[in-house]
Amino acid sequence: MIIGLKILTGKPETTIQFSVLRIDHFSFAPAGTPTLWNNLVPLKVRIHTWRARLDRLPTKVNLINKGFRLDNDTCPLCNNHSESGDHLFIICRVASEVRKQLNCWWNKIPMHSNTISEFFEDTCCTNQPDLNRPLKEIIGQAYFWIMWKGRNDAIFNKSFNPQGTANLIQTTIFSWLKSRCYRRVSANWTDWICNPSSVFVV
Ligand SMILES: [Zn+2]
Repeated sequence: MIIGLKILTGKPETTIQFSVLRIDHFSFAPAGTPTLWNNLVPLKVRIHTWRARLDRLPTKVNLINKGFRLDNDTCPLCNNHSESGDHLFIICRVASEVRKQLNCWWNKIPMHSNTISEFFEDTCCTNQPDLNRPLKEIIGQAYFWIMWKGRNDAIFNKSFNPQGTANLIQTTIFSWLKSRCYRRVSANWTDWICNPSSVFVV
């Protein structure tokens, strides 16, 4: 929480609840960007999503724009384009392959977005009633979290596996649901893999 506070106000706050309200009020409302504070997702992941949606992550393009001197601005996943947030998470063919793998698992993952904003509009900001929305939100946030960790691994270890990344997203979400809200999630891993919405009770 302190990370978010420093970004927004530079002042210490005493409670998480109050701080979240400040983030919503001072950061999201003016931009018309609803906050995804689904409490099944760890706080650090929600903050990461918030930063990604506002293009505040230290992608190579953002670092260079802030004056950092890097060897290149190339995406570490495809090694073929500049690493902006929209490219890394959405446009990159390697990132698309991860979403394709996830979509084979659960076919409600947005596949045709061109920007991070569009991805979240397609995921959770429609005006239509959608029983799958909580799960869409969780998967979307896990996708951004695990993709960023995978991107960092790709920079230092020069490897990135789309199928392995999709699998890690599945296991990570399952561990969140199990540990944070066991009453709303059945205990069956097999059911989760076969049909995630069948084990998630809204
Ligand atoms: Zn790329």
